[in-house]
Amino acid sequence: MSLLLSSYPLQSLTKSNRWFPVRTGSKPVCLALTRAQTSGGDQEENVVIVGAGIGGLATAVSLHRLGIRSVVLEQAESLRTGGTSLTLFKNGWRVLDAISVGPQLRTQFLEIEGMVVKNEEGSELRSFKFKDEDQSQEVRAVERRVLLETLASQLPPQAIRFSSKLESIQSNANGDTLLQLGDGTRLLAKIVIGCDGTRSKVATWMGFSEPKYVGHCAFRGLGYYPNGQPFQKRVNYIYGRGLRAGYVPVSATKVYWFICFNSPSLGPKITDPAILKKQAKEMVSTWPEDLQNLIDSTPDETISRTPLVDRWLWPGIAPPASKGRVVLVGDAWHPMTPNLGQGACCALEDSVVLANKLASSINGGNESVEAAMESYGSERWSRAFPLTVRANLVGALLQWDNPLVCSIRNNIVIPKLVKLGPMLEHTNFECEPLYDGSKI
Ligand SMILES: Cc1cc2nc3c(=O)[nH]c(=O)nc-3n(C[C@H](O)[C@H](O)[C@H](O)COP(=O)(O)OP(=O)(O)OC[C@H]3O[C@@H](n4cnc5c(N)ncnc54)[C@H](O)[C@@H]3O)c2cc1C
Repeated sequence: MSLLLSSYPLQSLTKSNRWFPVRTGSKPVCLALTRAQTSGGDQEENVVIVGAGIGGLATAVSLHRLGIRSVVLEQAESLRTGGTSLTLFKNGWRVLDAISVGPQLRTQFLEIEGMVVKNEEGSELRSFKFKDEDQSQEVRAVERRVLLETLASQLPPQAIRFSSKLESIQSNANGDTLLQLGDGTRLLAKIVIGCDGTRSKVATWMGFSEPKYVGHCAFRGLGYYPNGQPFQKRVNYIYGRGLRAGYVPVSATKVYWFICFNSPSLGPKITDPAILKKQAKEMVSTWPEDLQNLIDSTPDETISRTPLVDRWLWPGIAPPASKGRVVLVGDAWHPMTPNLGQGACCALEDSVVLANKLASSINGGNESVEAAMESYGSERWSRAFPLTVRANLVGALLQWDNPLVCSIRNNIVIPKLVKLGPMLEHTNFECEPLYDGSKI
């Protein structure tokens, strides 16, 4: 028996047993919090989020804060506990505050005061202090593992279903979506939020092209100093020819680093971290000793190599962010290169904007769910598309290997022309608080 197609309007019930009227196109339908099964044996869910990465978990937490239950499907057996760090700028922190996890995270990660740019010999080309340019700027490198665990800890038990890989998608006549999982489970969902990263199955189903390799790859690692790390609280960049590196303290004992190098093709996939470490070290063998020592202090298991990809959401060419009641968030929609440190920040922004719009629709606002998703798509497109393009262009500029161009960059552009304020303008983001649509 279907619990989901009760007639509208419905009585207001307590939070734990509340029915959500969902306006779908011209015909409102209602969602119950209770999970159900169709006569065909498919499990019914109201809101399914595909992917327990930063975007998926932040969306689930935002919805949860607004009283909307969701199920998060994650292909892996557990949260991604390996990996390194991400630099989050003030826009990311605004979102983490809006979903009430900012204070908890701040206590674990150092606030970074500025940045210094050096050439490959280690001579300083320029340094900046973030607060000199913008009092409200906030920069911290957070461990991805801790961020994911913190977000997940805000969700009710069983909200995340691990080992649940989405294999295929199909929409049915009334606009619901049938999700087929790798273990044979079939879920019939009212609302699907695709947060499944750069290789998103949801995006492919919606007609998006594969993200494009941009011609450079990144090594990443997390140095560990059990007796305390030696670096000042600033981001260090070293710019060479077709090669650049960066490192930033994360906490009292950990330091995140990356090396970005040009590579016309992806090359063989190497997963042995000891080999990756050796390759990374060889690449910067003549560079400042600090960096060499940092790589030596890095546990092998934290080292990875990632080809950098993006997808430009050309107006009129890229499909919209939503199709019916299926919508994309984060890298699944707008994969961007990490040159501005904005991929995760932007996924966090998406999550709050989408949750607010969905909640407003679900809680009896004037818009249908489809319209709420469209409104999210157009609002966020104007944010994500320029960022994607800018990140790509910055990367191309920094990866130049022409000696003359690099010399102009290191001797004129960086020391004399670059201004940090305008460079970080993209971190301005007014994060609306989470609001329950029923109250407006
Ligand atoms: C080298 C590098 C450095 C970066 N540095 C920064 C930085 O400093 N600051 C910043 O803001 N961003 C940075 N980013 C970008 C950031 O990592 C991403 O933008 C962010 O992780 C996107 O989050 P997401 O949730 O959209 O996707 P993901 O983090 O990729 O999560 C997707 C999740 O979906 C799951 N999944 C995938 N397919 C399926 C399926 N079929 N079924 C079920 N589950 C599935 C995956 O297992 C994963 O858990 C960097 C990226 C790279 C590559």
